[in-house]
Amino acid sequence: MSSHRDKIIERMCQLGARPPIIQSYFRDVSMKQIRIIYKEVTGNNPQKGQLPIIIQIYFETRFSVQSSLVAKVYIESTKSGATEAEALIHAYEVLQIMYDGLVILSFSQVWHITRYIEIDQFALKQCDAQHLYLFNRKGVHASCPVCKDKIRENNVKMSA
Ligand SMILES: [Zn+2]
Repeated sequence: MSSHRDKIIERMCQLGARPPIIQSYFRDVSMKQIRIIYKEVTGNNPQKGQLPIIIQIYFETRFSVQSSLVAKVYIESTKSGATEAEALIHAYEVLQIMYDGLVILSFSQVWHITRYIEIDQFALKQCDAQHLYLFNRKGVHASCPVCKDKIRENNVKMSA
């Protein structure tokens, strides 16, 4: 019988999580064990390479709506009692449901966003039209991506 923790590790593998990310939540599980579970669950070896470092891309136009969505789901989940690992999984699952086939953020990037939420550098801000969007407390001020999208759509309609 697999424990709740095993299920979380397995689900992260299914979502393509890199072993170091999984291990960051479960320090007592070795990288080797995680690689074995990953191979069992997905049939593949986990991806290698560097984890994301650059944070500015999450505020670029093409990323910001999805970044804001995952931040919103993550913050709501942790507030309602989910662990950080559970909230991360939930945020990525909701992103996949909402943007079926059009998800541009990787699991690693979503994890990266949640790390900055945990250190309180990334937070949600509300625009005048009540949309919640992600912003960087230490970054350049960006405007609401949903409103920006609407302006762009209207411009396209007007010029059509
Ligand atoms: Zn807005």
